[in-house]
Amino acid sequence: MPYEYDDQNVFAKILRGDIPNQTVIETEHTLAFHDINAQAPVHVLVIPKGAYVNYDHFGAEATAAEITDFTRTLAKLTADLGVAPDAGGGYRLIANSGEAAIQEVPHMHVHILGGRPLGAILATAASS
Ligand code: 5GP
Repeated sequence: MPYEYDDQNVFAKILRGDIPNQTVIETEHTLAFHDINAQAPVHVLVIPKGAYVNYDHFGAEATAAEITDFTRTLAKLTADLGVAPDAGGGYRLIANSGEAAIQEVPHMHVHILGGRPLGAILATAASS
C-alpha cells in the first residue's frame, strides 16, 4: 500500500518555516536540526526536504540525488558534531518507522545520538 503523507506534521511545518528550529546544516535536499527534547549531549534530527513518511518510503521512492545528499550530509554531520568514531567516541543512528517503533512524527527522520556512552541498543524493559 502506498504511503500517504500528512503535510500537517511538525517537521513539514518546520520545513515550511511555520515552526522555528535550531538548524545545524541545510543543503539542497536535507535539513538537520537539534531535537527539542535531547536524549544525549548530541541529539540531532536529519530529515529529507521531500515528503516521505519513513525510512523505507524514502529508500524506495526518493531520487538518487536526494538519497546521496541525505547520506553525505549525515556522514559530514558526525564529524562536524564531534561524534565520529575516530575522534569523538562514536554515535548511534535511529530511524523509528511505524507503530512498533513508536514513530512520533510521520516525516522520515534519522536521529544522531552521541556525546556519552549510549548503553544497550534497546531498553531492557522493552525486550522480550
Ligand atoms: P520519533 O519518535 O518520531 O522518532 O522522534 C521524533 C522526535 O522529534 C522526538 O525526539 C521529539 O523530541 C522531536 N520533536 C518533536 N517536535 C519537535 C519540534 O517541534 N522541534 C524539534 N526540534 N524536535 C521535535
